[in-house]
Parts: sequence; C-alpha cells; structure tokens
Amino acid sequence: MPRIKLLPTVVINKIAAGEVIERPASVVKELIENSIDAQATEIVVEVEEGGAKLIRVADNGYGMDREDVALAFHSHSTSKLAQPEDLMYITTLGFRGEALPSIGAVSHASIVSRARGAETGHEIEISGGKLGEVREKGCAPGTSVTARNLFFNTPVRMKFMRSESAEMTHVTDVVTRVAMAHCNIKFELVHNGKRVFLLLDSDRLADRIRTFFGDDLADVLIPLESHTQKLNISGHVAPPSLTRRDTRMQYIYLNSRPIRDRVALAALKAAYADYLMGGRSPVAFVFLDMDPREFDVNVHPTKAEVRFRDSSLVMNQLRASVQDVLAGVGHAPLADAGQMPGPAAPAGGDWKGRATQSMRDFFARQGKTESQTPRFPSFGAPQRFTAPAAGTPSADIQATPGVRSFFQVHNAYIVVETDEGIEVIDQHALHERLIYERLCESVPQNRARQKLLVPETAELSVAEWQNVGRIKEVLTEMGFEISDFGGRTLLVSAAPQAVGGCAAGALIKDMIDEVQTGGVPETLDALRDAVRKSIACKAAIKAGEPLSQARMADLLSEMGRLVRDYSCPHGRPLALRLTLDELARRFKRT
Ligand code: ADP
Ligand code: MG
Repeated sequence: MPRIKLLPTVVINKIAAGEVIERPASVVKELIENSIDAQATEIVVEVEEGGAKLIRVADNGYGMDREDVALAFHSHSTSKLAQPEDLMYITTLGFRGEALPSIGAVSHASIVSRARGAETGHEIEISGGKLGEVREKGCAPGTSVTARNLFFNTPVRMKFMRSESAEMTHVTDVVTRVAMAHCNIKFELVHNGKRVFLLLDSDRLADRIRTFFGDDLADVLIPLESHTQKLNISGHVAPPSLTRRDTRMQYIYLNSRPIRDRVALAALKAAYADYLMGGRSPVAFVFLDMDPREFDVNVHPTKAEVRFRDSSLVMNQLRASVQDVLAGVGHAPLADAGQMPGPAAPAGGDWKGRATQSMRDFFARQGKTESQTPRFPSFGAPQRFTAPAAGTPSADIQATPGVRSFFQVHNAYIVVETDEGIEVIDQHALHERLIYERLCESVPQNRARQKLLVPETAELSVAEWQNVGRIKEVLTEMGFEISDFGGRTLLVSAAPQAVGGCAAGALIKDMIDEVQTGGVPETLDALRDAVRKSIACKAAIKAGEPLSQARMADLLSEMGRLVRDYSCPHGRPLALRLTLDELARRFKRT
C-alpha cells in the first residue's frame, strides 16, 4: 500500500485559501483585481458586517461566457497565462488562478456574469469547495462575485477575525490602496447599505489622495517625476514637516500593483534621512513603471512583494529623485536649520501645529476673524500649554522625601542621590508611567481637564474614520473634549492635564493610528488601556530633551506619590537602584 496520496481538490483549495485569503479584505482585494484585469471602468464593492457576512464586487468589465463561468472556480484556471514564458511578462494583476477557488473553498460564493455582446448571463454557485451547475441568468454585462459567510468551514480563521469595524478598516484600506493606482476607474464602497465613498473616473491622483486622507495632506504634496530608459517614477511626496510614526503612509506601486518593497522603502528612508528626526517616517505615494521582464512578481502568495532584477537602479533613481524634489522646494535639512530635537518638539507635532484652511473656516463660521482669535502656532513649532505638565507647583528639592540631590545626564537620564543610595531614572519611562497613572486616576471624575488655547484638529483617513467611534468615547471619558469638525476631522478643544504640553491633535492622530494598527481591542477595558498606554508614550518627554531643575523636581515628587510599580506601562524598567550597601560591596569596602 503506498502511503502517499494525491490530495483531493477540495483540500488543495482549502490549503491555498490559507495563504491567499487571510481576512475579508483579502477577498475584496482579489475580486477588485479581477475586475480591473477585466478592464472594468466601474466597480462597486458592497460589504456587510465588515465582510464577515457578505462581500460582493460588481463590475462592468468584459465578463465571462458560459464556459468561463463553469471554469472560473476550478483551481489553476486562468485566462491570463497560456505558456510558461508568459510568467516572465505579467501585465495583469492576477495570473495564478488561485483566488476564485480559494474564495469558493472557504465561503458560500457565486459568480453572475455576462460577457460583453452576449445575449444573456450565467450563474454558478460554490459552497465550501462544492461546485454547482451553471445556469442561465439574466443580468447586465459584466461580472458580480459574491462571497457570504466567509470562513464558515474554517473555525480557526473565523476565530482570528476581528470586530466588524476592525475588519472594515482593512477593507477600506485595501480599496484605498488599489483605487489610488486606477484613477480612471469609478469606485464605490458600501458598508451595511451605507456609502463609504464614491470615487469618480475623472479623478486625478491628487484628488483621490484628498478624498482618502484629507486636505491637510493633499494641500502640501510635492509632485514627483523621474524618467529614465529603464524606470519611470511618478507620484507625490509630502514635505519632511509632515511625518508618520511608521511607513504605512508610504504607498508604493509597481506597474499599478500595490507592493511592499524593501528596496523602495529604503530609498525613501535614505532620501529623507537628513530631514527627519529619529523614529519618524515620511509620507509618499510612489508609482514605479518598468518593463515586466525586469522584475518577478511570483515570489509571494498575495503578490505583495516583488524581486527586482536590478534593485540598485530602483534604489538610486528613487532616492535621487526624491532628494531632488525635497531640495527643490527648499526644505532645509535638520542640521542646516539648527532644529535638533529640543524641549518643545513632541513627536509628530508637525501634523497640526498650524492653522489649516478648515480651522480658519471654523473660526469664520463662529463669527471670529483670525486676528481676534489667539495667534496660530507657527508651522513646525507646536504650542504647548503653559501649566507644568507634571501638574504640581514646582517643588524644591527638599520637598521630595528621601531625595537629596539630582541632575540630568545625556539629556536622557536623571541621576538621583537618595537617602539609601543612588537611582538612575529613564526620563521618558518615568514620565510615561506618570501620565499613564494619571490617566487611570482621572477616569471617573473627569476633573483634570484643561482647555486648549487654540483648538487642534486631527484629520483621519477614510480607513481610520471607520473605526473611531469607540475610541472617541474612551477619549472623552479620559478628559479630552472632542467633537466632529466636518469631513473626517476631529476637533480637540480640551485635553486631560496629564498630557499637558503636547500637540493634542497630533497626539490623537498618532494614537488612533497605533491602536488601530494593533487591532482595536474588543472589550472596553482593554481599549481604555491601549489608548492610555499609547497616549502616555506619545505625550511623555523623550530621550534627548534637556530638563530644567524645576521640571525634574516635579517629576521626582510626583514619582514619590504615584509610582508603585518600577516599570513603564510597556514593562521596561523605569529606574535602576544602587543602595549604599550595594555600592560598598561592589567597591569591596566591606
Ligand atoms: P487569476 O486572476 O489569477 O487568473 P482568479 O481565480 O482570480 O485567477 O480568476 C480566474 C479567472 O476568472 C480569471 O483568469 C478570469 O478569466 C476570470 N475572471 C475572474 N473574475 C472576473 C471578472 N470580474 N470579470 C471577468 N473575468 C473574470
Ligand atoms: Mg485574480
């Protein structure tokens, strides 16, 4: 008896589905790509319950006839490759013939399609890999693919699905990503019967960026163009004054296919290196176009990664062209401008430290002119509150029991002489812990709130906006005063005293970004904690900031009152202690 058996097709497809279909957004991505490959000019994406209940993608592309409909759910059935050499010259988004069978393996799916010029359409259903018969069905020319109850037969995957709003954030993100590369296609995204967005086929790239990410970003974009024999680069980059906490706002495309590519990311990082402070990432929309024989897309199950034949070409040309446009618009590198990380430079403060047009409109609506309102903080120098962030009146040294003297070293640590010995305190970790504790404290009372001198805004992307409701509730409960400001902009008019000193709009935007990246926790308590941790980390003094004696005294006195646990909220140690006994032992005095 041979041990080896060929696996049944149903099992093969279920295995393939594990790679291709990770969550509802993966289904949406594959279906939209099929519509684009079918030369659609209109694509409607309909989703219910974040895609868990229903995903439907309908297009007006060239459609399928009876035979194609019958074959489409079969594994490795594709119209996009005919011979092995074609793999070297891929011009379509799909080519492996894996998407439809994978979707059919893990959902109740159907295709309804009518080829252009055909009299009638056809329909076929598949459920958990079991294929039905093709039937005639009247419909408009084009194709509509529906997937219901995703993962109904793969409980493990089902368990990994997150909340409706979190999955919807992923779906929105996928449609955003693909739609940005196809401005000539009309897109509509509908969730639970409500339109999320409608994109017109008359859009230019900048219009779509404006729709997805708002005016603040669209208004400052710098066009990028570079053409050589082998590589064309186009797109937009943002000035170095506008940064993000990670590289997710770097949209990179190769022949209109969204990719995650290490070479391109490295090129952007290098181009901005002289302008950005550590830990921040630039915003960029980069379109690379090259002969398909110059790269391989067949290296990753979802085709998110590619391999370039000549990666140094991509690296050098992209870096140089971005450097050129940055230099061209007169953004001085950090060292020239002398703006090293200083005491009033909270991370990300560049997002909102200025008056946006929408804010001017807001004050205009309130019947105030700009000159009657407090002056807007200047670009790149976000205003801080006046009250000391630690909240207590400056304590003198003796006020903190046990502390004899202290000083700062390397703009990062506070060295304290205590009655028992010495302590070395990480200033960021300490401040982070203090803010965290105070945010925990102030939940029920809401008392320690401070009005902002100038309200700040946080403009969110379409994807972030999907998911912001519960986060807003938690922020309000914590002492932020937040209202909708029209569009997808939040207006922050007060903040808890604990985070005093930070650019509140930028803080909230970064926090939402971080919490959503990690997946918004299901329970309210977990969400509260995630928000508190993220805010504490972002609002806290950074390493590199010089501290005055008074500021250190405040921190130390508060440390005495609040800190029971000698670690930061992320679990890193907050202080190192050396007792006099320990010192004596180490110096072999005893
Ligand atoms: P691939 O896209 O890799 O070819 P898929 O499983 O996604 O594989 O699709 C299989 C085939 O079904 C495609 O090659 C195409 O011929 C056909 N097809 C899928 N979606 C559509 C659509 N929206 N319009 C027309 N044909 C489609
Ligand atoms: Mg496909």
